[in-house]
Amino acid sequence: MTLTVRQFPCLSDNYGFLARDEASGLVACIDTPDAAAIQRELEAAGWTLSLILNTHWHPDHAGGNAELKAATGATIVGPAEVSRIAPPDRVVGDGDTVMLGETRFEVIDTGGHTLGHVTYFDAADEIAFVGDTLFALGCGRLFEGDAAQMWASLQRLTALPDATTVYCAHEYTAANARFALSVDADPALKARSEEIFAARERGEPTVPTTIALEKATNPFLRAPLLRPDIADPAAAFGAVRAAKDGFAG
Ligand code: ZN
Ligand code: FE
Repeated sequence: MTLTVRQFPCLSDNYGFLARDEASGLVACIDTPDAAAIQRELEAAGWTLSLILNTHWHPDHAGGNAELKAATGATIVGPAEVSRIAPPDRVVGDGDTVMLGETRFEVIDTGGHTLGHVTYFDAADEIAFVGDTLFALGCGRLFEGDAAQMWASLQRLTALPDATTVYCAHEYTAANARFALSVDADPALKARSEEIFAARERGEPTVPTTIALEKATNPFLRAPLLRPDIADPAAAFGAVRAAKDGFAG
């Protein structure tokens, strides 16, 4: 099984992703931030879209569903909450499987940013599309869920293999690094942040990341270490999340 991923910028700071199952030639897009940009990328690749996988209902993730479906006939798969934007053809939740040719995506509940947010994990290729749950050095804001729900979701992601390639949906990494450096003096974080600032100055993406890299340096995953004064790990995470929400630097 081989999945080929094409990543491209959409809107102001989103990434679009096309994923092609090499065995069958079938193509999925993960979220639909910008239907026109996705269609241009399909044309550039010479690929035909058959599947839309939504991580959550937000317009910068599902806003292109209707236009892309009308243009390509693709099947929309997503959590029930996506009905707020465009009704999925198939509603999925934790433990479900979605096939793209020979590629098998496991659906993992990663609620918190929105209540129904899901991640799509291809175990054979060790690839995860995490939407707005986990970012490089960051995590999604708690728009709908609470710290306990998000912490549990992040634990499901850190339980994936260390080598897992993590495709997050936004290029927020430089701002995330500035916050991370304000709460964590770890040398690995400092080194990674310098690489990130240099990459962004060269106009290079910092996505994808890996589970190993995030476990080592992401301040939200390291929250219990950073806040030893708070006994409950989810509460420690909540404190770091609140600090980021109020961070001006
Ligand atoms: Zn979102
Ligand atoms: Fe988003």
